[in-house]
Amino acid sequence: MKVLVTGGLGYIGSHTVVELYNNGDEVIIIDNLSNSKEEVLDKLETIVGKKIKFYKGDLCDKELVRNIFKENKIDSVIHFAGFKCVPESVQLPLKYYRNNLDTTITLLEVMDEFNVRKIVFSSSATVYGTPEILPLTENCVVGGTTNPYGTTKYFIERIMEDLYISNNNWDITLLRYFNPVGAHKSGLIGENPNGIPNNLMPYVFKVASGELECLNITGNDYDTVDGTGVRDYIHVVDLAYGHVLALKNNKHDEVKIYNLGTGKGTSVLEIVNMFEKVNNITINKRFAPRRIGDIATCYADTKKAKEELGFETKYTLEDMCRDGYNYVLKNK
Ligand code: NAD
Ligand code: UDP
Repeated sequence: MKVLVTGGLGYIGSHTVVELYNNGDEVIIIDNLSNSKEEVLDKLETIVGKKIKFYKGDLCDKELVRNIFKENKIDSVIHFAGFKCVPESVQLPLKYYRNNLDTTITLLEVMDEFNVRKIVFSSSATVYGTPEILPLTENCVVGGTTNPYGTTKYFIERIMEDLYISNNNWDITLLRYFNPVGAHKSGLIGENPNGIPNNLMPYVFKVASGELECLNITGNDYDTVDGTGVRDYIHVVDLAYGHVLALKNNKHDEVKIYNLGTGKGTSVLEIVNMFEKVNNITINKRFAPRRIGDIATCYADTKKAKEELGFETKYTLEDMCRDGYNYVLKNK
């Protein structure tokens, strides 16, 4: 299958490109490098041992996107391109609505024009807002988002559902990711956020490597096993493989929605302790106030993804802590 991967030089996109090649698919990437570097392309080519066709440009540029579809016989699309920083989205909501919605609408219009109607979209567990029940199933209410980033994901889900209602020939999969961490075992690709990270594990890596002084554990008075926040961390390689399975799933009597997580909740202290153990390092840390808008606990019900996609995670929390830090050390 020839797959267009938007945002394919980013963290999850790059790992998915590797899994697609492992599956025998061919990939075309479009990325404007707003949150990635062109050198990721060389690293991907080293890993997969092949030249990869890359378009450097903006997915909101309709003429460019048309040219990509003219020049390549694309069978399906995996759509990662978008902005993802929660605090920035609160400061600059229009930037987020413009980019995340415009990329998606432009892409869908061009796909329709070229009769390519198979798409997998990067959604997020954030669409569930504050969980009403745990574990979160795909049937839980969505839309109670607490920041503009999350709301863009919710809006895009709605746009895709409306599109399917208008034309049942669309084959749409919405993947709701939980917390991706870790990196490819080669250490060539991984997560490389600009500036001070907002997410836990990139922050831990920077404390471990000496770039940041101390980890603030934001909240130790939640109603959880040890008072710290609980999340469902999933190895990015497992998550990436979920996209390969989603493309293979030919059922399309509805918009398909799947949680991609492990189904297991881990507290901040549990994952930091695991990080210290597997990397034989001590993290300088202190307790700090809760982050505004944070929820106590969030983890996935993975039954539907297992039954319908055959999705099962292979990697452990140890792997996530070791592989993520291996990437950081190799790219210091
Ligand atoms: P990322 O920032 O590493 O990758 C996104 C890529 O898209 C970047 O390479 C960026 O340069 C590119 N991009 C952004 N706007 C573009 C545009 N207008 N045109 C072309 N390229 C553009 O992010 P990621 O962590 O790999 O996330 C991928 C997707 O998954 C995003 O949509 C994100 O919202 C979603 N997601 C991520 C997480 C997470 O924790 N990382 C969780 C849930 C959902
Ligand atoms: N967290 C923390 N310190 C940080 C960043 C995050 O203690 O510097 C906590 C946060 O409160 C949450 C967990 O780590 O309980 C995961 O946060 P992250 O931002 O990685 O994921 P999200 O909250 O978006 O699911």
